[in-house]
Amino acid sequence: MNQRAVAAEILEAVCDGGHSLGAVLRRRCRQLSAADAALVQEMCFGTLRWQPRLQWLLQQLLRKPLKGRDRTVRWLLLLGLYQLLFMRVPPHAAVAETVAAAVALDRAWLKGLVNGVLRNFQRRREDLLRRCADDEVAAHAHPRWFIGLLREAWPGDWQAILAANNRRPPLALRVNRRCQDRAAYLARLAQAGLAARPLAHAPDGLVLEQALDVEKLPGFAEGQVSVQDGAAQLAAGLLDLRPGQRVLDACAAPGGKTCHMLEAQPALEEVVALDVDRARLARVDENLRRLNLRATLLRGDAAEPAAWWDGRPFDRILLDAPCTASGVVRRHPDIKCLRRSGDVASLARLQGRLLRALWPLLKGGGMLLYATCSVFPEENSQQLKDFLAAHEDAEPLPLPSSWGRAVAVGRQLLPGEDDMDGFYYAVIGKRRGAPEDGHETDRKSED
Ligand code: SAM
Repeated sequence: MNQRAVAAEILEAVCDGGHSLGAVLRRRCRQLSAADAALVQEMCFGTLRWQPRLQWLLQQLLRKPLKGRDRTVRWLLLLGLYQLLFMRVPPHAAVAETVAAAVALDRAWLKGLVNGVLRNFQRRREDLLRRCADDEVAAHAHPRWFIGLLREAWPGDWQAILAANNRRPPLALRVNRRCQDRAAYLARLAQAGLAARPLAHAPDGLVLEQALDVEKLPGFAEGQVSVQDGAAQLAAGLLDLRPGQRVLDACAAPGGKTCHMLEAQPALEEVVALDVDRARLARVDENLRRLNLRATLLRGDAAEPAAWWDGRPFDRILLDAPCTASGVVRRHPDIKCLRRSGDVASLARLQGRLLRALWPLLKGGGMLLYATCSVFPEENSQQLKDFLAAHEDAEPLPLPSSWGRAVAVGRQLLPGEDDMDGFYYAVIGKRRGAPEDGHETDRKSED
């Protein structure tokens, strides 16, 4: 098995086949040893993180683009450049192994090309790197449309956001407060020789100084801790969960926020975890089982409640909407390849539809938390402004001012700030006695 050949095939499946890196890695790495899987992952993540720059370099080095079946070798060349620029593999080994991978991929006739391109890069390296600093896409290692949107939305921050997107993210954990508090788990980590620090704004959150295989974390298999970024951990607190409430998590998979809500408020009446994607919903089930938690799992389209709603309204709704994920590029560098500029408008339309369809399911006096892991206003504050303008019974509720920055409606976290991902949150309250709120009397008698 040649790890570089496997990595090239994975990169091709992601960027040319349109599959997510996480899904392809899970499938392909099952057959590999832990050490091989770690190397394949490192090469895939790194190559995708720097792909726009590597692609620019490759264009300077190739006379003709590689086409058809030979496109896999293009990925091999990008992998080769990534190793030479960013990995600690000795250059001669990086070149030799990448050439060997061309043979493993049944492209022996391209061995000379791979060898020539990579050696040529080593010779011209300083000059090419100087010139690439003048090309916006190569310098920031992001697609041009992404840089343009960011510059427009965040004129004072766009360069810092791009730089944060290119950094490796920290491994953030959520301590299961049903088992122990964060201080107690930090002490356990210290005993195991694992350095970690608490997250400033997420009371259950901490960040490990060095990433490691999660199975090696104390108590992971027993559900004492989960992997979740600090920004995603803010949701449970913002929902102000109380005993006896019925909660809808409308886009729930893989279930990080569903599980956190259940850990944070054990006396909820019910959490309904809905997702349109059956395979992803199975991952919610896996997470609930590991953490020994219960929720009602439903497969359905949140925009079509008539097909799955039992007619009983919810006290809280979390809409963690599908989005461009432009705030989590550091965790999912495949976004640079997979997203197109047109996705922003089409996702914004879907988000608007989901908001409008779910609003009638909320009780008067209830709260809807809208969240995305995007930094584009069209998916966030603009979305909420349009919604509020069209719904008289909806009012924005205040959010803590300790994190992120205030935007027209809600608050925006930018990637890397306070060790967290880029995220957007807005809390919308439903006025009591609103015309479509048929449950006003029930609700008052509960209070
Ligand atoms: N809340 C999740 C968590 O914390 O683990 C992450 C949710 S992810 C951002 C968005 C989810 O929305 C995906 O799992 C996707 O399958 C789901 N989704 C997309 N369109 C949907 C729809 N129309 N109805 C329900 N779920 C949908």
